[in-house]
Amino acid sequence: MGSSFPAHLEELMAGLRQLPGIGRRAAERVALALLERDAEELRRFGTLIAELPEKVTRCPECANLAEENGLCAVCKDASRDHSLLCVVETVSQLLAVEAGGSYRGRYLVLGGRISPLEGEDGSGLNFNLLERQLGTGRVKEVILALSSDVEGRATTAYLAEVLRNFPVKVSRPASGLPAGANLSYADGATIAAAFAGRIDVDKKDD
Ligand SMILES: [Zn+2]
Repeated sequence: MGSSFPAHLEELMAGLRQLPGIGRRAAERVALALLERDAEELRRFGTLIAELPEKVTRCPECANLAEENGLCAVCKDASRDHSLLCVVETVSQLLAVEAGGSYRGRYLVLGGRISPLEGEDGSGLNFNLLERQLGTGRVKEVILALSSDVEGRATTAYLAEVLRNFPVKVSRPASGLPAGANLSYADGATIAAAFAGRIDVDKKDD
């Protein structure tokens, strides 16, 4: 099954295959569809992608997506409740909580979770931002809204331990969140319900 595509196209398809949900067939379809577009449109599209790192940055307070080094929409919103801090793993989870429409506090996007089996010890996570938020003294409750899988639970347990050193109430939603990539906006209502029935985490649950 020798390749019959020009090398540049092969390289583009290899790049597309790195994206979630794009297998070999889909990469081929997308690459061939791009070839049908006119040169100007492709250049604009290419620029949009190339400028992502400068144009879309992380909020310096919570690591949510932001524009060009500014604060994110949540942190900019003066009506958000500073006494509530919701810790999520990913921006997708933050968006799902927002889609629920009932949470009015602020966030902290950890950027992943602890996974000892995969050698993920948490050193790449935004614990420094979390400590900074706690250091303001405004946070009264931290809601650990992490995934319900093994790594998510390990991270929740770890954070609950760390948070013992701070004068804050620690809670978690009644049910855990699905892991980042599996979230859809439809989960918003479910998540809102889980938030409404959140549970204290000051005692070990098993
Ligand atoms: Zn922010």
